[in-house]
Parts: sequence; structure tokens; C-alpha cells
Amino acid sequence: MRPPVTDFIAREAQFGAQNYAPLGVVLSRGEGVWVWDTDGKRYLDCLSAYSAVNQGHCHPKILAAMVEQAGRLTLTSRAFHNDQLAPFYEELAELTGSHKVLPINSGAEAVESAIKSVRKWGYEVKGVPDGEAEIIVCADNFHGRTLAIVGFSTDPDTSAHFGPFAPGFKIIPFGDARALEDAITPNTVAFLVEPIQGEAGVIIPPSGYFPRVRELCTGHNIMLILDEIQTGLGRTGKLLAEQHEGIEADVTLLGKALSGGFYPVSAVLSNNEVLGTLKPGQHGSTFGGNPLACAVARAALRALVDEGMIENAAAQGARFLEGLRSIRANTISEVRGRGLMLAVELHPEAGPARRYCEVLREKGILAKDTHDHTIRIAPPLVITPDQVDWAVEQIGAALTQDLS
Ligand SMILES: *Cc1c(COP(=O)(O)O)cnc(C)c1O
Repeated sequence: MRPPVTDFIAREAQFGAQNYAPLGVVLSRGEGVWVWDTDGKRYLDCLSAYSAVNQGHCHPKILAAMVEQAGRLTLTSRAFHNDQLAPFYEELAELTGSHKVLPINSGAEAVESAIKSVRKWGYEVKGVPDGEAEIIVCADNFHGRTLAIVGFSTDPDTSAHFGPFAPGFKIIPFGDARALEDAITPNTVAFLVEPIQGEAGVIIPPSGYFPRVRELCTGHNIMLILDEIQTGLGRTGKLLAEQHEGIEADVTLLGKALSGGFYPVSAVLSNNEVLGTLKPGQHGSTFGGNPLACAVARAALRALVDEGMIENAAAQGARFLEGLRSIRANTISEVRGRGLMLAVELHPEAGPARRYCEVLREKGILAKDTHDHTIRIAPPLVITPDQVDWAVEQIGAALTQDLS
């Protein structure tokens, strides 16, 4: 007999670190936009593992590539070459218009790798005095969970009691180009920013912000690092969110959907100047660039492009946004989004967003609250118009209830 759902949840609580507060659903299977719980109830996944499963759950072609490669060669370490790394580099560089690729595993490691690379570039190319490099970041950022990264987070939950932290970071408001201009010094080596702040609640900067940021970075010889770990790979209806702004980053960070959710794969993309400063022995990772990761990532990129998922994200994102905006509910204060990166902001009087996520779960939709009053909606990019319409109907029904 299958154990009851409460048993899985109780044993997790008993044996696991309690660093998450999941909704009370235990999932055991996924396919495309759908996931099923241990009782066989089906849900539309409107989180997509924080945009790691843009290609849909258990995409058959990525699965096939993974199984094939897993039976052939999984890990060599970078002490030797492998036959998947070069094609992965070439295909990713060609797709994104980058010169060089540094393969690594998690998103946070990509951010750390970028920080190390731009500091080194600052000392060896720009001529900043050793130990003085400054990196500018934004308030309400989310770049991951390592110590260097949480040290420049402004979210107290993220950083409290984890210090002491690494110096060399300056925090400015997001969306304020003037603040960037004022924060720049001769020792500034980089500006690290998300094109749209995801974890902060899908915060889209004012138009004109990024073109001005690009101008300032170029003018002061500062590397613009765009963290596209969540916004990249089709989520916003373009391959990279920077394309909405008509700019190009100097350093681009990818992760999450780079493997379609099968495996942790991330990458730093850059020009020759920045990644060229890393010499043998100066940076690395046992699993970074392993043949299994490369084969999975190649298949994940192919699925995204060949199956028109990026165009679908643009079309269904527009449909979803329009649908959400047509909901007449006095619980809603704002609906915003770009592509399939959407958020519904609730009035504080409506009560915590989590309660509405629980109602949505009963209606067969899994979505995640963020910051008390925001419901984030980010389904896999393979969602169909009918599924969007159905989701909008459920969300409308949930949000017209008064749960305050
Ligand atoms: C998820 C995320 C990260 C961290 O990725 P991990 O794989 O969890 O380390 C970094 N930046 C952004 C914008 C993210 O959304």
C-alpha cells in the first residue's frame, strides 16, 4: 500500500533540515505542463521549478539524450577532454552570440564564477589596485545562496546571522540609472543585475533603464553582468531578456532551464577579455562541463529552439497577461509580467498570498507566493492557449474568494 501524503511530509520534517516551507502536496510524476501527486491528482505547474523546467517536465528528447549519455560516459573531470564539451560550447556560444563559455553547475556557482572573473579582469586588464575592486549590485536582488552572494542581499531572511561577509559590494536601488552613475568609482569593475527581478516578485524596470545602464558601463569601462538564470532561455518570450532592452551584456549568466530541469547545469558567457583572464588551475569544479551535463544541455537548448518554445512563451505570455488583467477581483492590486514570467500582486487586506496558493492547489494549479502578497505564475513554455484559458479561469475563481 502507498503511504499517505501526510507520512511523506512528516518524515521530511523529522529527518530533513527545515529550510523550506512547501505547499502540502507530494509530487511523484510530471509530463509537459502537468505534475501528479501520490494520490494521482493532476496539477498545472505554474512555477516550473523556478523556471528550470521551461521545456516542460520530462521532455522526451532531453530524457533520451540523458539516458543515452549516461550509458556511455558521465564524468571525466576536466583533467581530460570529453567529446561533449566542445559541441556544447560551440552551440551555446553560437545561439547566444558569445565568445567564450565557462561551464559550471548551479546558478550560484555561475554568479560566483562571474564575480571572480570580473575581479581578475579588473586587476589584470582595467588596472584596479589589487584588493580594491568594487562590484555594484541592486537592492532586492536574488543571485543565490553562497556566502559571497547572501552577503550582498538586502533580504534579512537571506543574510541574517550568516556573516561575516566578503567586502567589495555596493548596493543601489533597482531601476535607478542615476544611482548607478553616482555609485561608480575608478575601482568599479562590474554591475551585477537581473533584467527582471524574479524572486523580488517579477519587478520590471522602467523602460530606458537598461539602455542607460549599458551606456554608463561602456563609458566607465565596467562589465555589465546580467543574471539571466531565471529570465533567460525563453522565459520572457525572447531567448535572453536583454533582447527586450536592445542591449548586450558583457557577461551573461545562465542556469536553471539550461538543462530543462534534468540536472544542475549553469554557465558564464562572456567576451574573451573577461573569461580569458582565467588560467589553468585558477578556477574549476569537478562536475563543471561533464559530458552528461553537456549532452543534457545540448538537448535542452535544441528543444527550446527547434520546438518554437520561445515564440510560444511570447504568445501565451501575452494571452495569460490579458486573461489575468481581465479578472475583476478586489483582491488584486496589480498584474504584471513579460512573456511567461508573470505575477499577480494582491492588496495587503486580501490576506497572505499563500492562502490563495492553497486554494489554487485545490483547483489543480500549483503556484508559489513570494513576499506575502505576490503570486508568481511561470508555467512551462510548452503551455497551450486552452491551458492558459483554463488557468486564468481557476485563478479568477480563487482570487474572487475573500480569504482575509
Ligand atoms: C535561481 C537563481 C539563482 C541561483 O541559482 P541556483 O541554481 O539555485 O544556485 C541565481 N540568480 C537568479 C536570478 C535566480 O533566479
